[in-house]
Amino acid sequence: MAEVTMEKIVSLCKRRGFIYQSSEIYGGLNGAYDYGPLGVQLKNNIRDMWWKEMTQLHDGIVGLDASILMHSKVWEASGHISNFTDPMVDCKKCKSRFRADQIDLEAPCPVCGNKGTFTSPRNFNLMFETHIGADSDTASTIYLRPETAQGIYVDFKNVLQSSRVKIPFGIAQVGKSFRNEITTKSFIFRSCEFEQMEMQFFCAPGEDEKWFPYWREQRMAFYSKMGIRPDHLRWHQHGPDELAFYAKDAYDIQFLFPMGWQELEGVHSRTDYDLTQHQKFSGKDMSYLDPTTHEHFIPYVVETSAGLTRNVLMAISDAYEEQELEKDSRVVLHFHPLIAPITVAVFPLVKKDGLAEKASEIEHALREEFSTFYDQSGAIGRRYRRMDEIGTPYCVTIDYDTMKDNSVTLRFRDSMEQVRISITDLVKEIQGSIKNYRRGNDE
Ligand SMILES: [Zn+2]
Repeated sequence: MAEVTMEKIVSLCKRRGFIYQSSEIYGGLNGAYDYGPLGVQLKNNIRDMWWKEMTQLHDGIVGLDASILMHSKVWEASGHISNFTDPMVDCKKCKSRFRADQIDLEAPCPVCGNKGTFTSPRNFNLMFETHIGADSDTASTIYLRPETAQGIYVDFKNVLQSSRVKIPFGIAQVGKSFRNEITTKSFIFRSCEFEQMEMQFFCAPGEDEKWFPYWREQRMAFYSKMGIRPDHLRWHQHGPDELAFYAKDAYDIQFLFPMGWQELEGVHSRTDYDLTQHQKFSGKDMSYLDPTTHEHFIPYVVETSAGLTRNVLMAISDAYEEQELEKDSRVVLHFHPLIAPITVAVFPLVKKDGLAEKASEIEHALREEFSTFYDQSGAIGRRYRRMDEIGTPYCVTIDYDTMKDNSVTLRFRDSMEQVRISITDLVKEIQGSIKNYRRGNDE
């Protein structure tokens, strides 16, 4: 099988409208990307699947959408102002900037080749700083949030007092975060603007021992629901040098990206650190009153923190395949039908004799149930290939027999099998196939 490289992924993403470089007509902006018509649909589908998984399929998890701009005290309490830094060096000759821990400081500059031109390393805070209000005095300095989790901690009491949640419970949030990365790399894997899907699960001290393994298992199971190949996923437990000083334990789910194994999601046992910090810095009581024991305690937290934009890169790289067929070859994206940007494409075999009108009528009828696409141009084989390349799992073709007996051809993406079925059975047939979908075995 041909190798999946980042070049192929980037090229497909641009060619078919998944992902573009930001501000491309101005030469592009490093570390920022735009999601095109198919990319935004794929991203929204993954987000919706995660949201349903967390807030609908699990007990006691409620949603939140905190603002990106927060009081700067939040980041003092969380430690981001003092600790969220990378060591950085500049080349005095060519002005290039590097992560001091990622290059050999004794070697020549990798950009201009001069030796001994690096400044001494200094710490560089990854938070984007901006100002709120018309004054630019120091009091109005704020930051674009570098993670969504703090919004959940800060609103912990609000959620507790305004909804009928009892410990253990979780708060889920999806949103943008920003990090001023010195080196952005691997396409959308590490970008300055990205999206996170985070859930903080609050429980009694000690109960975290039970919930931590539970959430690890649940989060890995989610990716198999999404159809990700199990041999492309693995666990990485943080060693003592990777573990934050307050954390009890931490595991990452890693995915085999085109550039190698990298973090996709973290499941962390964070103790009562965050709420205690916010209690200290805000002066507000962050404790929970147990209704049966009447004891006050600061809850412990198990966090599941996934990158939504990393999930998009994972979904595309995992789905990508170049297949040699009997007479030709095809590029196919084996998206799970639940996340595919388009679920059903409808084609008339030819435009004339009322076939186009009939096909368009069927496509309209399917819209209530599925995300659809209508295409009447080009040879039918080429229309199938275009749908394979963007991961559309089902194609419906209308031909002259359709006009006589109301039957259509339903074609499955992975197996390329075709079945003849009645229009009245179409919705049920596709729904059944989605429910039982297994990669390569879709009919
Ligand atoms: Zn240089």
